This record gives sequence, structure tokens and C-alpha cells, in this order.
Amino acid sequence: MTLTEEQRRSFYNSMDWRNKREAIKARDHYECQQCRREGKVALDIYEPNKNGRKKIKLVVHHIKELEYNPDLALEDDNLETLCVECHNKIHDRHFSSRPSPKKLKWDDETW
Ligand SMILES: [Zn+2]
Ligand SMILES: [Zn+2]
Repeated sequence: MTLTEEQRRSFYNSMDWRNKREAIKARDHYECQQCRREGKVALDIYEPNKNGRKKIKLVVHHIKELEYNPDLALEDDNLETLCVECHNKIHDRHFSSRPSPKKLKWDDETW
């Protein structure tokens, strides 16, 4: 079973996902797990901008892609907090060997 783009979009808009995403970030102490593994300085995730709003630099990533593993969509073990840079790198790596070059930018968790 795979999910269509439409199904994934509605998943990322769901309250279940929003709640889970926040829970995972809290679990990971609002740090990029990949940066941690590489021994880099952990990033502050939230930076208040001029309006006092918070700018989110972290995404919660599906280790096994949602598209092919919808049953793992809300599994803690399949989710980790990443900064946008690491997230893009991870997806570039996964997708570089794929036959469809159209899908360049990865936009899943940032919806
Ligand atoms: Zn990172
Ligand atoms: Zn991802």
C-alpha cells in the first residue's frame, strides 16, 4: 500500500500529526538528531522573530517514508527531529538513486 500525494497532504494537515510532531520534537529536546550524531553543535529550533512569533527550523522526519509505510506514520520509532539542512541531505541521499528526477525538493514534513 502506498499513499497518494493527496492522502499524504491530508495526513500532514491532521491534528494527529500535529500533536505527534510536537511530541517528537519535545522527546528529542528540540535538537536535530543527525547533527547530534555527527557531533555538531545542536541548533536552537525556535528563534523568536520580530513579531514575537516563532520560526520553526526543525522538521520531524519519517525514517521509513510515509508514502510506503503509512502504518508507521505515527510510530515514535519511525520519527525523528531534524534540522532543515540535515533533512534535505537525507532525502537527497535517498532520492539520488531514484529514477524520477522530477522529485527534487522534498516537501513532506514541512507542509
Ligand atoms: Zn541537523
Ligand atoms: Zn523526511
